Amino acid sequence: MQKIINETKLDFDDVLIRPKRSTLNSRSEVDLVRSYSFKYSPRKLLASPIMIANMDTVGTFGMAKTLCPHSAITCLHKHYTKDQYIDFYKQQTNSDLVFYSVGTSEKDIDKAIEVFKVIEQSKQYPNICLDVANGYTEQFVKTAYRLRNLFPESIIMAGNVVTQEMTEELIIHGRVDIVKVGIGSGSVCTTRLKTGVGYPQLSAVMECADAAHGLGGHICSDGGCKVVGDIAKALGGNTDFVMLGGFFAGADECEGEWKYEWLCGQGTFKEFWQPFDPEVPTTKRKVSLKYYGMSSKNAMNKHHNGVAHYRTDEGKCVTVPYKGTAQEIIMDIYGGLRSACTYIGANNIKDFGKKTTFIQVNNTHNKIYEKP
Ligand code: 5GP
Repeated sequence: MQKIINETKLDFDDVLIRPKRSTLNSRSEVDLVRSYSFKYSPRKLLASPIMIANMDTVGTFGMAKTLCPHSAITCLHKHYTKDQYIDFYKQQTNSDLVFYSVGTSEKDIDKAIEVFKVIEQSKQYPNICLDVANGYTEQFVKTAYRLRNLFPESIIMAGNVVTQEMTEELIIHGRVDIVKVGIGSGSVCTTRLKTGVGYPQLSAVMECADAAHGLGGHICSDGGCKVVGDIAKALGGNTDFVMLGGFFAGADECEGEWKYEWLCGQGTFKEFWQPFDPEVPTTKRKVSLKYYGMSSKNAMNKHHNGVAHYRTDEGKCVTVPYKGTAQEIIMDIYGGLRSACTYIGANNIKDFGKKTTFIQVNNTHNKIYEKP
């Protein structure tokens, strides 16, 4: 057995995309919406490759409502109640662009069965995101297979893994349509620090995409995009979807603890934290949001009564500035992606990977005005 893999694996920061001659005259000619068909699900999806992470701050109903008209996909977090999901799906005109999240617990699966039963009556079909931190267990593959049998029509995405053999296992034996790729790359993830486990994201994407596409499956690159250029690089590495958390953290549509400021006479501001409450509309100004990993102490205290004695937290909590609406963020992403397409002569997003050549670099950009 080879104990050390000597080939250097790459992250987004290790490469740039080489420009190429192009016949495109304008960015407006670029089509970012792609028609996807899947290995198992008979359903088609017309969407951009952008997915919002199923974290309880960003994977919200509000995010889905704002982003559906922009053809971006929202993976809802799994902590809403059964009735909240049912209400949401009943109101949602295009549930194609929404994924319902589950873990491997019986509780999650029972809840999914109940929700799906009700919403199927109103001719809605949720897509499913089966999400665990470590997609390398037998139990995980069995759960994916079980979900396929329970919901044969659904588009099923499952992860996370970072290697070819597990991508193949999930597609062949788990019967999933999309494999979610990324371990340790997320902005609020501490897995690499706590366990030493991980895989540079760009190499993981290129290798898993190759395995998945060979079998007629798809992948979603999950985590680690810090700038729009990283999204372009993930697409250049042949991912079909790109999942983003931190990018949308701080958007108006986020739930969680917001810091507000309140004008209190003579131009002075008072700042304070307040948990999100959709029932209480606010005229105060948002300043920042607590964005935390779903395996952080914050998330475990909120959803599981603390960290179980046999495990450790693998996520952290940061404060991110208010960023305006999710619409502004998605438009900025699309602008960057259209520009990237024109630089390499790709007139649609499906061609992006085929047209990309990477250059390995020591410096990605000029940092002279960045804070040390
Ligand atoms: P970001 O876009 O912020 O870089 O990454 C988002 C991704 O980070 C999520 O989709 C998820 O895969 C991952 N993630 C979220 N919370 C945690 C956590 O607490 N621990 C770890 N290891 N990963 C997390």
